[in-house]
Amino acid sequence: MLELVEDFILVKDLKKSVIEEFAAKVRGKIIFPEDAEYDDARKLYNAMIDKHPGVIVKCADVADVIYAVNFGRENHLAVAVRGGGHNGGGLGSCEGGLVIDLSGLKFVRVNTDKKTVQVGGGNVWAEVDHATHAFGLAVPAGIISSTGVGGLTLGGGVGYLARKYGLTIDNLLEADMVLADGSFVTVNATKNEDLFWAIRGGGGNFGIVTSFTFQAHPVTNVFGGPTLWPIEKTNEIMKWYHEFLSNAPDELNGFFATLVIPGPPFPAHLHNKQFCGIIWCYSGDLDKAKEIFKPIMAMNPLFEHVGVMPYPAMQQLFDGLFPPGLQWYWRADFFNELNADISGKHLEFGSKIPTPLSQMHLYPVSGAAGRVKKDATPWAYRDAKYAGVIVGVDPDPSNATKITKWCKDYWEALHPFSSGGAYLNFIMNEGQDRIKASYKHNYDRLTKIKRKYDPENFFRINQNILPS
Ligand SMILES: Cc1cc2nc3c(=O)[nH]c(=O)nc-3n(C[C@H](O)[C@H](O)[C@H](O)COP(=O)(O)OP(=O)(O)OC[C@H]3O[C@@H](n4cnc5c(N)ncnc54)[C@H](O)[C@@H]3O)c2cc1C
Repeated sequence: MLELVEDFILVKDLKKSVIEEFAAKVRGKIIFPEDAEYDDARKLYNAMIDKHPGVIVKCADVADVIYAVNFGRENHLAVAVRGGGHNGGGLGSCEGGLVIDLSGLKFVRVNTDKKTVQVGGGNVWAEVDHATHAFGLAVPAGIISSTGVGGLTLGGGVGYLARKYGLTIDNLLEADMVLADGSFVTVNATKNEDLFWAIRGGGGNFGIVTSFTFQAHPVTNVFGGPTLWPIEKTNEIMKWYHEFLSNAPDELNGFFATLVIPGPPFPAHLHNKQFCGIIWCYSGDLDKAKEIFKPIMAMNPLFEHVGVMPYPAMQQLFDGLFPPGLQWYWRADFFNELNADISGKHLEFGSKIPTPLSQMHLYPVSGAAGRVKKDATPWAYRDAKYAGVIVGVDPDPSNATKITKWCKDYWEALHPFSSGGAYLNFIMNEGQDRIKASYKHNYDRLTKIKRKYDPENFFRINQNILPS
């Protein structure tokens, strides 16, 4: 039986000389609570989470990451790793410990011969999209471009290109990592294969990724945008959507949503009303787009704004609505089907969305994402058709209870109809059982790999996989 270190030493209790020795090694910036930039540096995207780390190290290079890992391990500190800082549960920070902030570790190199892209461990997706678009390429990612490459990729990565090209992890070819013992390794299909398997869905449990190499695909412009119907039509539209998408080509993607139109750029007559809708993205031959969209338009949406746009514009469509600093509460589940019981719950809770930015999304994980074997990566729910997420969102902290309650109630009503687990990047802290349920048959293998590479559970501020 392993003895796991449960009690951390606080940074503030370390000897001055220990900190000075560490600071002398590091090239990046070291920020303490007394520094002017501390409050800015500790802020997370989700303002509902307010953590006060003992020190933040903004790593300038891989060497800084190695020194920081060694400093954290040798001094028994709680260590959080921060990529884009978007995680709903605030896993990019910790109380009183060390935050290894990767935001200075940015580069994007496109290899046009191989159509691959090498990306720093601290990049955000907007930077990748910008660099690849110039070459007519794209890497499957999420739908908000300020999200970190690190956290999104290591958790799975669901977005507009999932049906055509798979999840983000299905396009990961190689990674460079700093492990818990401070060693540096490269992982790919032939080197450290077990670790390469584990990081494609196993989150930040196995080490710090300093560089990702992805397969990119020929995507330049897409045909997409929202189609909306009054919330009262949820049953009819959801049934149609499920059947239509199940028979559509992989190039067509569209996530179903219940939402409120919060304001501009949408027309005034829609503001503050509840809708069900689909945000489409068609990444196939644009000459065929109008034909593909004919059955969609035949459903007579109350509002539609679909057309050709550059892929990065599609990726940024909702960035403006969701700036950093809002209150967020997250719940999620996978779904295999969308039957009348399910759509009835969406109608019920979609009709009482508590604040203009609170929403429910169902992201298709069918097509190419669904054709990958269930044990090829830790992502166990390859047979699920949708990754569902409910988010209570509002700028005002005094609405935190209201958005949390709506989100929990919505989730509790739907959970009995779900597949059991959730996409772990879409939940906050729901404990070990939920993590196990989400990795299902892959959990045991993950715990063995965790034991091999991180037996003391050094990397534990994440959706934690316990060493077996
Ligand atoms: C507005 C919004 C929209 C989103 N949309 C999508 C979406 O469309 N599709 C989707 O799949 N997800 C989406 N997500 C969820 C997102 O994937 C997770 O929040 C993810 O954790 C964010 O990664 P990050 O690097 O920004 O987060 P962080 O908070 O920085 O990190 C999250 C976790 O990843 C670990 N981590 C981050 N970088 C590294 C690294 N380089 N090496 C090792 N560990 C690392 C951290 O330690 C932490 O445990 C969205 C989130 C938000 C807030």
